[in-house]
Amino acid sequence: MADVAYLSSLLTAHPDFPKKGIVFLDIFPLLRNPVAFETLVTHFMHHLTSHTIPNSPTKKIDVVVGLDARGFLLGPIIALRLGAAFVPVRKRGKLPGQCVSATYEKEYGSDTFEMQEDAIMPGQSVIIIDDLIATGGSAKAAGELIAQRGCKTLEYLFIIELVFLKGHEKLDGPVYSIIQSN
Ligand code: IMP
Repeated sequence: MADVAYLSSLLTAHPDFPKKGIVFLDIFPLLRNPVAFETLVTHFMHHLTSHTIPNSPTKKIDVVVGLDARGFLLGPIIALRLGAAFVPVRKRGKLPGQCVSATYEKEYGSDTFEMQEDAIMPGQSVIIIDDLIATGGSAKAAGELIAQRGCKTLEYLFIIELVFLKGHEKLDGPVYSIIQSN
């Protein structure tokens, strides 16, 4: 738990960003500090390799899916260490080739996530990673893309979970977060 307290102590909170009434938690101070970044990655790796993921008795993970944009900073490192593929989920219009898509509601309006269709093969074991879960809308849409490809999301991983928003209740798989914020 010392690592969790250490990582929490480095987060910074920014009131009224990006708009009034929102307190934005910034993970970049963790990435700026190589000891903290290593602690973060080691924490995820310890969780993924030494805890049984529900529905995955073999613990074999084929694909790490990272969400646009801060999931791209964590996903490739975790994928490399697991010996798994990294696959990005991006906002609409950014990925070439045939894509699957899923739309989710945001505070104002909606957004669409896309993933390249051939990036994941039916039956593969997938985890989804992002920096933070708030309402859970974006992670839910990413889970729908995985399901569209005939795969199951073994686990959703985040550095931070805003627990009061109950985003995990929207998701079709277990959620793991290092830091829970109220
Ligand atoms: P959700 O779809 O409502 O769960 O929002 C999660 C998405 O919004 C993630 O991609 C986060 O990167 C981003 N997000 C929302 N609030 C924050 C915050 O306080 N800090 C960093 N990212 C945030």
